[in-house]
Amino acid sequence: MLDVATNYYEDLYREKPIDVSLWSSLFDGLPKLGVQDRALLDCEITVKECLDALRSMPDGKTPGDDGIPTETWRVVFPLIGSQYVKMLNIAKEKGRFKPDFLRALLTLLKKKNKFDGQMKDFRPLSLMNIDYKILSKVLSTRLRKVLGNIIHQDQTCSIPGRAIHDNIYLIRSIIDYQQRIRDPIGLILWDQEKAFDRVNHRYLVGVLEAFGFGSEFISWVKLLYANGSFRIKINNSISIPISFNSGVRQGCSLSGGLFIISLEPLLHRIRSNQAIPGILPPGGQYSNIRQVVLANKNNINPDHVRIKTIAYADDNNEPSIYWQLINRQYFRRPICEVRNPHLKDISFFRLLRESLPNRQLDFWLLLANFGIHTRSRLGHNDISRQCLLCPAVETPAHLFINCPILVGLFDILNNRIQSICGHKLNKAIMDVVYLKEILQMSPNRLTRRNMVFLIGCYLHTIWTFRNVVRHQCHQHQGLDPCIAARQFLAATKHLPFDNG
Ligand SMILES: [Zn+2]
Repeated sequence: MLDVATNYYEDLYREKPIDVSLWSSLFDGLPKLGVQDRALLDCEITVKECLDALRSMPDGKTPGDDGIPTETWRVVFPLIGSQYVKMLNIAKEKGRFKPDFLRALLTLLKKKNKFDGQMKDFRPLSLMNIDYKILSKVLSTRLRKVLGNIIHQDQTCSIPGRAIHDNIYLIRSIIDYQQRIRDPIGLILWDQEKAFDRVNHRYLVGVLEAFGFGSEFISWVKLLYANGSFRIKINNSISIPISFNSGVRQGCSLSGGLFIISLEPLLHRIRSNQAIPGILPPGGQYSNIRQVVLANKNNINPDHVRIKTIAYADDNNEPSIYWQLINRQYFRRPICEVRNPHLKDISFFRLLRESLPNRQLDFWLLLANFGIHTRSRLGHNDISRQCLLCPAVETPAHLFINCPILVGLFDILNNRIQSICGHKLNKAIMDVVYLKEILQMSPNRLTRRNMVFLIGCYLHTIWTFRNVVRHQCHQHQGLDPCIAARQFLAATKHLPFDNG
């Protein structure tokens, strides 16, 4: 077993031939890192940064090749911190670490739902020594602060404020919307096998240079990736050291960021290809909302908001999303229900299921089941926490009920609810998010279904509006979300949400 694994990984992590002549056309027109961002990445590493990195690591994790756990490091670091930083700087000056620093222990995890006894069905996880992890954590913490500025909105993996679910939700909205307007589209789903393990190290450095990363940061990356080796551990046997000459390490905090950077030039090439038409983002179920938001005012060229690529890591929490999209039967079922099959026995969710079209239902289940799953994506960092339309913090209650810019829409909803069942919602958060109170006050089943549908449409419309505006503001710094919101409100004023 160990021999099979050793042969397999020796081959996988061997450097593969690449065509360097393609680089210049691939890197052409990439955005450049700003001066401040570059300075942030390039500044001297401090003892405090290292200590913060060490503190952020979870306890109780399996240690790396040297067997020293995080807990021990935390005790001794105040004594050796300055020596540690000195060691890093000496290594950078010399251009290499001592081999022990980069030595990892590779353990193999079986991929869920997908295992037919082949080596490729294992996920290789590098157990790195903590001294390595401190440095990579410091670098990845810095990198995360700048990634959003150079990586297009299309990529949602490993970037603060973006979530894999954003893209899954967007794909579903696009398919759903196109079906609704009977405009057939084709999607090409491309799953990269062993994606992390196939990043060429020379290419990675080339991409970093093309994005305008500074020499210091690039030196650190080179240091971490030069002369690395690992040993495979299976049961209690450990293999001979294997050179690590290809790929970013799974299990290293820097690898997600480096991977999306290395993927970006390809996506950029696709985006700038005029022969690929792409698709406009779905703007809710009402065509006049879509026209208003996408109108050619504010000098928005519709070509610039077209979506041509969507990239995300599909094997974290949604192992079968790829197949769900292909398989219509699964596709019609909302993602949350698939992930949480126990929901189908709860009468509240059965009512939702009966009342709402798939698209709203998906959103509803996210909302109700996770207390709005979007809470996490709304509040990942300070930038995303602020409301698009006003200076307040964007909580679900703010977005759907209290935001002064959209509050007129909530009043329309409330009036409709009153006309259906004779009651008004009070502005307590739970009314909209959990619906329990509303369902209790409407005895009649048909009324309840109407109300669920009404509120589902309301929430979905606001959410879609927010996503479209957000998407556009990202691409067109000049677009004022408040103007878009006013146009949106004007367009929705006369729309009954319960018209389908
Ligand atoms: Zn607001």
